[in-house]
Amino acid sequence: NKNFIFQHRVLKKNGEYGTFSIRGIPLFNKNGTVREWVGVHTDITMQQKAFQKIEESEKRFQKIADHAPVLIRLTGVDKLTSYFNKAWLSFRGRTMKQELNNGWKEGLHPDDVQKFLDIYNAAFDNRQEFYVEYRLKRHDGQYRWISHHGAPRFTTDGNFEGYIGACMDIHEQIMYKEHLKANEEKLNIVIEASEMGTWELDLKTKQLTYSHRYLEILGYPKNTKPSHTELLSHLHPDDLFIRESAFKTAVQTGSLYYQSRIFWKDNSVHWFEAKGKVFFDELQKPVKMIGTIRDITDEKKYSQDLEEREQKFRILADFMPQFVWTGDAQGNINYFNQAVYNYSGLTPEEVDKNGWLQIVHPDEREENIRAWTDSVKNGNDFIFEHRFKRYDDIYRWQLSRAIAQRDINGNIQMWVGTSTDIQDIKEQEQQKDYFISMASHELKTPVTSIKGYVQILQSMYARSEDSFLQNSLQVVDKQINTLTKLISELLDISKIKSGGLDFNKEDFEINELANEMVNEILHINPGYNIPVSVTGKVMVNADRHRIGQVLINFLTNAVKYAPHSNTIYITSSVQNNQVVVSVKDSGIGISKKDQERIFERFYRVEGKNEKTFPGFGIGLFIASEIIRRHNGKINVTSEPGKGSVFSFSLPVNL
Ligand code: ADP
Repeated sequence: NKNFIFQHRVLKKNGEYGTFSIRGIPLFNKNGTVREWVGVHTDITMQQKAFQKIEESEKRFQKIADHAPVLIRLTGVDKLTSYFNKAWLSFRGRTMKQELNNGWKEGLHPDDVQKFLDIYNAAFDNRQEFYVEYRLKRHDGQYRWISHHGAPRFTTDGNFEGYIGACMDIHEQIMYKEHLKANEEKLNIVIEASEMGTWELDLKTKQLTYSHRYLEILGYPKNTKPSHTELLSHLHPDDLFIRESAFKTAVQTGSLYYQSRIFWKDNSVHWFEAKGKVFFDELQKPVKMIGTIRDITDEKKYSQDLEEREQKFRILADFMPQFVWTGDAQGNINYFNQAVYNYSGLTPEEVDKNGWLQIVHPDEREENIRAWTDSVKNGNDFIFEHRFKRYDDIYRWQLSRAIAQRDINGNIQMWVGTSTDIQDIKEQEQQKDYFISMASHELKTPVTSIKGYVQILQSMYARSEDSFLQNSLQVVDKQINTLTKLISELLDISKIKSGGLDFNKEDFEINELANEMVNEILHINPGYNIPVSVTGKVMVNADRHRIGQVLINFLTNAVKYAPHSNTIYITSSVQNNQVVVSVKDSGIGISKKDQERIFERFYRVEGKNEKTFPGFGIGLFIASEIIRRHNGKINVTSEPGKGSVFSFSLPVNL
């Protein structure tokens, strides 16, 4: 008593089976029982065929979808996902059931949820295609970047059915892109830091692209777009050729390099340096050039200034009549001024080849090398007298001095030396020496004879009542003694100069000599107090008379240069087989500067005291020569205003 529907197949006239739908509708009696049935047979063969087709196509789609390498998903109008292909499911490592509806969203990276929804919803509302990238969790737990193309689906009659999404794992590409971006950023930082401008030139179209910095270097404001030709028109005319040939070479070698000047709008000239690389196509035809430019105006200016300065000094040095030379830290001489070449008649090549020593007199060479090596090793000033051979083979005496130039850390950078012609001075000195020698010899005989007569007169009139006569004879005797001392010192100097200072060496006890000399001084200066402190007896082998002379010199100076004190201390001690004898006074003292020079011949400390302390500056020179020739050392320590200690050392005779 109900409607019924069923389908059955009927063999049709054309021999094919057709599908019929039969619907039975009951007609009822008044009491509700079925009176009769009305049947409607509809031929639904066509309809059935259409259904089958759809079913088949859907199956086919599923098959394709399941085998496609893309991840496919279908969403309905309710925004819930109703289908995932096999690729999706195996990517996710989950079942269809787990993923369906919103199940898949569990795999969406939390940070990307909002972005996905924003894009998806906006597209959905307008039934538009969309593209979104998000991270999706893979079966192994790793989030991978996915590209998602979404397209709206419509039925044939235009009804919106939802979306179909095609997704791909683009993780590697994204990573690579990021890597590339990071590299590019790094490169940009480097380029910016280096203040370089960048450019790219299309060799076919001659189209030039460039960075802001590029424009800045060439003197254009940032927002302008000067063309290649415009830029070229400001190049310094002298440099056009340089640039052109650089480009020609670049096309052959693949790399570009040149330096050029450009005029800015204000007509100021600026230097830049261009570097570039040429790119070739498969046919080895150059297609483009990429490169940089750098502002080198300051560098150029600096090196030009430097060149000018160096030129100035070179000219200065070359026009000096003195010899000027420099050496490196190792002592290799690497520069001579023109005067050296003029004097020696040698060419720079000849000096280079055979060295500078060829100019030095053979007699001084050995000592010269020794002194120079010593200075280079210890950094001490070099002071040396030697003869240089002139172009005409005549030797002339030179005084050479060199001083080490040091950096802020005190390391030697180079040596700067000069040599001055002292031939004339030397000759004058020789004449002076000759005169001194002559005069002292000539004076010696008459003075000795006067001294003899004075002594005779003194003994003749020893008992005379005439006090004026007595005093006069005493004064004459004292003056004659001073004169005799001076003459014998001058004779000593002559002997030292001519190398004729001879010694009569003998073994003697030095402390005994010291006491003897003290007594001699006390005899002349009775009011003095001179304690002698010694440690036992010390034997030396030396010229007793000459060592006594040294001690007398120390003691007389100690008396002379300490007018307000009458105590002098003598000490003698032995250290390392050397006996050191020192004489200490509490006198005027000597400044550091003068201490270095008082042992030189005729050197006297200058100043207002000069007249107060008569003398010739000879004593210490002779003393130092005597001690030096005995293989000993002479020394002074002193503090101005406090006093001085003069000492000498001699080898102990064991
Ligand atoms: P002189 O004393 O005849 O000038 P010296 O050669 O003995 O010559 O001494 C050289 C110089 O050294 C002196 O002129 C003096 O300036 C200085 N001098 C020497 N001894 C002393 C001393 N004890 N105290 C201070 N200055 C001294």
